Amino acid sequence: MEQDISSRQVAIYIHIPFCLTHCGYCSFFTVPYTKSSLELYLEYLHKEIELFLQYHPDLKNVKTIYFGGGTPSLLKAKEIEDICSRFNFDKETEITLEINPLQITETYLSALKNTPVNRLSIGVQSMNNEELNLLDRKHKAEQIKDKIELCHLYGYNNLSLDLIYGSPGSSLTTLKNNLSQFLNLSPEHLSCYLLTLESDTPLAEKIKERKVPPIPDDNLLTEEYELICSELEKAGYEHYEISNFCLPGKQSKHNLSYWKSLPYLGLGASASGFLPPFRYTNPFNLNDYYANLDKGLIMPEAESCSSKQMISDFIMMGLRLTQGIDLNELKERFNYNLEEDKRLKLEKLYQLGMIEKNGSYLSLSSKALFVSNTVIGELI
Ligand code: SF4
Repeated sequence: MEQDISSRQVAIYIHIPFCLTHCGYCSFFTVPYTKSSLELYLEYLHKEIELFLQYHPDLKNVKTIYFGGGTPSLLKAKEIEDICSRFNFDKETEITLEINPLQITETYLSALKNTPVNRLSIGVQSMNNEELNLLDRKHKAEQIKDKIELCHLYGYNNLSLDLIYGSPGSSLTTLKNNLSQFLNLSPEHLSCYLLTLESDTPLAEKIKERKVPPIPDDNLLTEEYELICSELEKAGYEHYEISNFCLPGKQSKHNLSYWKSLPYLGLGASASGFLPPFRYTNPFNLNDYYANLDKGLIMPEAESCSSKQMISDFIMMGLRLTQGIDLNELKERFNYNLEEDKRLKLEKLYQLGMIEKNGSYLSLSSKALFVSNTVIGELI
């Protein structure tokens, strides 16, 4: 059973929860931005890094860094640089910044060039202004092409674009048009997320009051997902994870750590981390996050995972990858033989055409991808 986090490179996730405004569909933990509150937050973030490195100096050697949020592009280039400088990595290390399209300006990118950030994840969400409006996004579809060109001009040639499908009133026609505009931008990577509508969001309220059209029914959502998969594959994108597509070799190295159950350090309020055998989640509240760090406390309420939990997580996360899970790796890392333990369930899923085996890899079939949770539930 793996337990030792020393001498191993980790993925670092840094959460910046501040946003300029709150989008009507978002149920993430976010905090209204002010200059002083972000500055205070960064002081605590550095304190958290300090404490981690004091207890686990090996965490200094990182595999990837990912700035997510919230809106991490509210950070100044110098602030990003200061955070990165706490860790050891080389030029090839993938360092990603989620960026709001409106923050892609010459001034920002020229400053960002002085940081090690080498991959941008751009919150485009849609190339349809009506949908952008419904999602409360402040940019316009026609601005995106120039923004991408500006990124290229400043040497950012590893771009990931977010696309949200299943928006209120969307149809196969609107989605097809949307996809073709995304493809015209030739991004290296695309993350296509189904709009998940939490009941306590302003958008859910508007739908209830019939101020905006309803979200598509399950049949249409399945068709939308299938359309995304077929159009992107036709355009040469590798469908490597349930919601993620990339040009050859352009997978998100950072996210692969999550899907392969490798260690990652989560820093910042509401961030989660996995330092085997421990999993933890920081408080979803700035005051509690600050209070813990004032007491010198990191990894609050960390849970030591049993081997059963780690095996379940490995299967659950790994089957999100279209390559699937390596059954030999499962045996080597966790001394667990899935084929022996779940023989009858596996036979049933093979018969239903929900799973496939290729060498030592077990994966979901393409028809199981959209109902992955149900299929994976059978195996954990
Ligand atoms: S969707 Fe993104 S930008 Fe909008 S409120 Fe949520 S975290 Fe902030």
